Amino acid sequence: MHVIEHPVEGLRSALRSTRKDLIETYEKYSKEEKSLLEGCLIPGNSLFSPITFHSHSDWIPSHPETPQDFQSFYSNPYRRTPNKGHTTIYIQTIGSFGEGVGITEQYVEWLREYCQAFFYGLVVEFLPAVTVASTSCTFRVNSNSYNLQLHAGELLGFLKKRKPKDAFCIVGITMIDLYPRDSWNFVFGQASLTEGVGVFSFARYDDDFYKRSYAGRLKKAMKPKPGDYSVFQGYYTPPITSKLLLRSCKTLTHEIGHIFGVQHCQWLQCVMQGSNHLEESDRRPMDVCPICLRKLQSAIGFKIADRYKALLCWIDTGEGVSALHSGKPTESFQDFRQWLCKCLSILRD
Ligand SMILES: [Zn+2]
Ligand SMILES: [Zn+2]
Repeated sequence: MHVIEHPVEGLRSALRSTRKDLIETYEKYSKEEKSLLEGCLIPGNSLFSPITFHSHSDWIPSHPETPQDFQSFYSNPYRRTPNKGHTTIYIQTIGSFGEGVGITEQYVEWLREYCQAFFYGLVVEFLPAVTVASTSCTFRVNSNSYNLQLHAGELLGFLKKRKPKDAFCIVGITMIDLYPRDSWNFVFGQASLTEGVGVFSFARYDDDFYKRSYAGRLKKAMKPKPGDYSVFQGYYTPPITSKLLLRSCKTLTHEIGHIFGVQHCQWLQCVMQGSNHLEESDRRPMDVCPICLRKLQSAIGFKIADRYKALLCWIDTGEGVSALHSGKPTESFQDFRQWLCKCLSILRD
């Protein structure tokens, strides 16, 4: 395991920046907010840990990039900022999310509320669910894993046409696996930042996806005809568990973070860290590090404590109900809950 330790001064200037006007806006944070944000600078602090990588297939060793500090984020002319009349994040589900319409609606509602707390101050709405057939999207059977896959680029085209006028962005989500082009095995998601459109699949967040017994594998002899969408009727969708909900919340907020122009984080453990595989994305925390938090805060303008309170409230409104379909399964969010309470205690001091 390799630990990426940045010198304290490096983290400080990544957070505060070196530009006079940006240092001035930083100084407008309250004493408590600064003490939370600067908590990351103290080695061994309990809230923000350094990034570790565990093998050369992890993101950072395989994608050498310049880390994006607050100043380079802020100065990027191509980043998207919610502005007057464009403050709604739309979520479009494609295909089924569970057995039955009610479960899809319930699951998406949890995701919607989570995103609304995460991007506190923006409105998150979902558009009426659509079937795969109504997207007219090309699909295929993966020649190695025999599961159904949708063409990601065509879904982006479909979403672009459905994007409402007041949208900050539109994000398509599906439980069906995606592929970007014939020669590729799969893709977790694809986005067009300039258009504010993205599409992401949660298929590979199913614990069974990589097992031979995976229920989404079609029989080898089965060769659906192009355009025959009947193959999607009753097609396998992963069971909705607390872990799947956690992974979906993490992916969705990470991907929407990119639409704001936040690049992969290389500073501290952060939900914006890149990931090459499931084990690595599971290792990421639920929330952003102070440097990425400042990026989001400057784009949206929330009070840091209000955002943490909203996330805490999202977890707690599902507490105590363990029956999957009657309550939100928040068991997997309990470490995050404790972390939020610690952050809030600093802000309340
Ligand atoms: Zn990413
Ligand atoms: Zn970060």
